[in-house]
Amino acid sequence: MPEDCIFCQIIAGDAKGYIVDEDEYTMTFMDAFPVVPGHTLIVTKNHYDNILDADAEAIAAVGRRSTSIAKAIKSALQPEGLGVFQLNGAAAGQTVFHYHMHLIPRNDGEQLEIHSRIPGAPEDLAAMAARIKEAIEP
Ligand code: AMP
Ligand code: ZN
Repeated sequence: MPEDCIFCQIIAGDAKGYIVDEDEYTMTFMDAFPVVPGHTLIVTKNHYDNILDADAEAIAAVGRRSTSIAKAIKSALQPEGLGVFQLNGAAAGQTVFHYHMHLIPRNDGEQLEIHSRIPGAPEDLAAMAARIKEAIEP
């Protein structure tokens, strides 16, 4: 694991993450700089820089997880829409070089944004993680 990878540090429990859920291959936590409340990331537990070096099974696991997390976000937050996307390489806008997928609640009239520089308040991130976690169907 690259020592300077913030997502590896969160997975290892060495950095604070607002964890929603985890399974064998993936971990889901709140984006610390949410573009809107409920902005969630699903990451592979193993470190891959991006889709080009990631294991296909790990990517499939993120995809599988995205369905239950998307439904949980829909149920907990009732957004009108939900953006699901991931970026590969700095030229594509990737800023954390550990494979991950974004799930971003969307509502009519909101600007389509991918990144924010404003950190979420810890209590808001914790509350959002708890609400989404609670809404995951077994
Ligand atoms: P990307 O630009 O697709 O690589 O997305 C990386 C995301 O990670 C951005 O949306 C950041 O806001 C988010 N991020 C950066 N640091 C942290 C952190 N410590 N915990 C959670 N999310 C983070
Ligand atoms: Zn990593």
